[in-house]
Amino acid sequence: MPPLEKRLRREDMSHYQGPVDACIVGCGAGGSVLAKELAEAGWKVVVLEAGPWLDTDADLRQDEVLMRGKFDWTDRRVSEGNEEMIQGHRRDGTGVGGGTIHYGAVALRLWPEDFERRSRDGVGRDWPITYNELEPYYDRVERELKLSGPLQMPWGPKRTKYPQGPHHLTARDTIVADGFDKCGYRWTPNALAILVGEHDGRSPCMNYGYCQWGCKSRAKSSMHVTYVPKAVRAGAEIRDQARVTFIESDTGGRITGITYQKAGVEQRVEASVYILSAFCVENSRLLLHSATSHFPDGLANGAGMVGRGIMAHVADGFFARFSYPVHMWSTSPGTLLSQEHYGTQAGRTFAGGWSWMTSVLFPGEFGEALVKAGAGMWGERLMKQLEQYPNFTLLGEEGECLWYEDNRVTLTDELDQFGVPRAKVSFSFHENETRMRQEIYRVGRQVLEAAGAEEVFVSQGNDHTMGGCVMGNSGDSVVDRDLRTHQHENLYICDASVFASSGGAQPSQTIMALATRLADHLVKSR
Ligand SMILES: Cc1cc2nc3c(=O)[nH]c(=O)nc-3n(C[C@H](O)[C@H](O)[C@H](O)COP(=O)(O)OP(=O)(O)OC[C@H]3O[C@@H](n4cnc5c(N)ncnc54)[C@H](O)[C@@H]3O)c2cc1C
Ligand code: SF4
Repeated sequence: MPPLEKRLRREDMSHYQGPVDACIVGCGAGGSVLAKELAEAGWKVVVLEAGPWLDTDADLRQDEVLMRGKFDWTDRRVSEGNEEMIQGHRRDGTGVGGGTIHYGAVALRLWPEDFERRSRDGVGRDWPITYNELEPYYDRVERELKLSGPLQMPWGPKRTKYPQGPHHLTARDTIVADGFDKCGYRWTPNALAILVGEHDGRSPCMNYGYCQWGCKSRAKSSMHVTYVPKAVRAGAEIRDQARVTFIESDTGGRITGITYQKAGVEQRVEASVYILSAFCVENSRLLLHSATSHFPDGLANGAGMVGRGIMAHVADGFFARFSYPVHMWSTSPGTLLSQEHYGTQAGRTFAGGWSWMTSVLFPGEFGEALVKAGAGMWGERLMKQLEQYPNFTLLGEEGECLWYEDNRVTLTDELDQFGVPRAKVSFSFHENETRMRQEIYRVGRQVLEAAGAEEVFVSQGNDHTMGGCVMGNSGDSVVDRDLRTHQHENLYICDASVFASSGGAQPSQTIMALATRLADHLVKSR
């Protein structure tokens, strides 16, 4: 049977006139899960998504150059601070599926200690919920996405069996694994939202390696091939290329409508409940821009916290050149994992830790990363390295960034084409991240040299935006433990904006678990 995504025709989708039960802004990791869960519970749902609805067969190509910019959020933003926050392809996606069209599908959970950073280490913040409260929702998401993973995860909380067995390791993984072994660090095949066997008419992984440019075989469980078709089948309406520009509120703080532009025409949706899942920078931007005389500092900003606490993982790429071909591209990114350095550990001078994983860059991005990696990496020197592309492999990491109030999103005076002020992202790594980065450098080089690398180049970077609308108490946060904004009884926020810590692992499983939990809460409290 063909996959559900192919069986559902767009003209069969519900088209609602007048008020609906829920209006969701953004159709990425958070919005898609909410749309499916609420629609399946019988809610009338409209999702407003700024980007296009791409067709897997017609629009996705295994070509790094052709796909560039096809699903990137490319709005100009102003950046300041000591660590430039990367935008676009390596950070924000757009379109039905959001960032999950790009994502590498590494599907890790946070650990219990990540929810208690302030209580345990006296730095950063605590979450108002515990790992145990989120655990059943992680389980549900993992079953829905049919995650593949190791038979036993050596680190982290005790967990249920992964729905599918592990991916096969390829040359680049076994070489790096050898380096880990020689240094005495454990490793395992990673947890991935990628099929190893046929499921629901979707193909198993063909190891094309193009995951971050859109998976043509549908093996990668992006939202547009998993949750979105199920949401549509259950009656959700997805309005693509619908750019939200304003959230309307009355004098008492109730949200009364959302204004958006589609094909140059301004339109409006009314709903009982509104949920922002437009990713971290855009949620804060919309809330700040939707100020009124009753809410002069923006919506949900009674505590002055909207936009504050933006986080990004320390994510430096270690490019290792070997004397023989390694072919790093011949599988999905992130297939080998080590969490030996995860979490706060005795004897280190910083809180938190990181996960290691193997990865891949195709030649265009690989060239850019090499230029960033070394002074003088240009001209003939660069060409010599590029000629040896098949001999390179990439080891990356996701290092915890603490929650800092001064890392924040604000508005500039410059308007975009929709009349919305552009966002300014002020972001710096502090002492904790700088110390962690030094240790990451030491261990990364140690592992790759033990694996037999001839030369290692390090390209400094950061990954995954989180924060901006933190969860907590009414005096010091934007949303409560149920993701409802403190000032607006019918406005919720649901994505990585609400994170109070970043952990040292990719965020999407936690976003989806939070979205599943919010949908449950809304359905039960109706
Ligand atoms: C290259 C890459 C690799 C990644 N790899 C991994 C990985 O391996 N594992 C992992 O867990 N995470 C990964 N991520 C991160 C992951 O994609 C994001 O964390 C996740 O998609 C965020 O979910 P979200 O719902 O918050 O936002 P998104 O998925 O980004 O969705 C937000 C949506 O909101 C829309 N939107 C924004 N503003 C408006 C507006 N004004 N009106 C209407 N719509 C709007 C956007 O167009 C977008 O589609 C990766 C990301 C990238 C870019
Ligand atoms: S490696 Fe697998 S998941 Fe990634 S693009 Fe290829 S088939 Fe899809």
